[in-house]
Amino acid sequence: MGTFKAIRIDKAEKGTTAALTEFDDADLMDGDVTVAVEWSTVNYKDGLAVTGKAPVVRRFPMIAGVDFAGTVIASSHPLWKAGDKVVSNGWGLGETHLGAYAEKVRVKGDWLVRLPDGLTTREAMAIGTAGYTAMLSVLALEKQGLTPKNGAIVVTGAAGGVGSVAIALLSKLGFHVIASTGRTSEEQYLRSLGAAEILDRNELSGPAKPLAKELWAGGVDSVGSTTLANLLSMTKYGGAVAACGLAAGMDLPSSVAPFILRGVCLLGIDSVMCPIEKRKLAWSRLATDLDRGKLAEITQEISLSDVIATAPDILRGQVRGRLVVKIM
Ligand code: NDP
Repeated sequence: MGTFKAIRIDKAEKGTTAALTEFDDADLMDGDVTVAVEWSTVNYKDGLAVTGKAPVVRRFPMIAGVDFAGTVIASSHPLWKAGDKVVSNGWGLGETHLGAYAEKVRVKGDWLVRLPDGLTTREAMAIGTAGYTAMLSVLALEKQGLTPKNGAIVVTGAAGGVGSVAIALLSKLGFHVIASTGRTSEEQYLRSLGAAEILDRNELSGPAKPLAKELWAGGVDSVGSTTLANLLSMTKYGGAVAACGLAAGMDLPSSVAPFILRGVCLLGIDSVMCPIEKRKLAWSRLATDLDRGKLAEITQEISLSDVIATAPDILRGQVRGRLVVKIM
């Protein structure tokens, strides 16, 4: 038995504390597969967990970090053996189960997805939960029958992690993508990912009318609140919006008008408890449909020791694209 480096969250008198520290092997939780973590990432939820801004962590002590990619070092699960390259996210990692900001994780083998051919562990985490959620959103729109012929797709929170990957994926699939952002200074960046139009997010942040001019066939929304309400009221007859985030709030001040008068569908996207078959599909589609050059363009690398200082930035909407965390 030894120790390994990890970002440990503890309960304090007021809120929580986060520290990079040594964690004891003996304190790892139950699981049938142990993985040497090579890469993790900073998602919005990680920002909440590390800063303690929202009660993401529900067991103490906790190791933060909701996603990882790495190599199996020990397994008693029939599917996995030492040396296998794997990726995982959600399932309570960093919330109720010791998470990914660690040199080592022990998890259930059923939580793992085999790293798709052609993706490195670093690329998998450059995608991370945010990129995989963007793919789940695209899959949901496709399942709804949307194709580029139906019209444009609007992506909100465009310069963030989910938004950046969604733009790259949708543009590669041939969609006309409208990127809604509060950072219009990032226009060049968003256009380089494939956005055809840039929309100032203020245009979507006021109170929504029940129905407004029909501007797009679909949307990927990581913002929630009045933004999602506006998206719905501006969606064309028969269109659909995938709701995956709450960067502006958890409320949804909308009406039933888009649903009952235009047949618009609101598609819920959850990455955490998503069934394994859908995960496998999302990861294999990411391996084939995401332009690696664009992925490199949206990715910045930090080390495990930078995570605590960086966590507030993502909550302030100051991170562009994706942050990949080098664990070892
Ligand atoms: P990021 O912080 O990278 O991106 C969020 C973006 O939202 C920001 O970059 C900003 O984009 C925009 N934004 C931030 N604050 C506001 C605001 N007050 N009003 C309007 N827009 C705002 O986060 P992620 O991409 O990692 O995650 C996005 C959202 O998706 C989060 O709410 C996260 O919790 C959720 N999520 C949900 C998952 C699920 O399972 N459903 C999985 C992963 C993420 P810009 O500067 O371009 O305006």
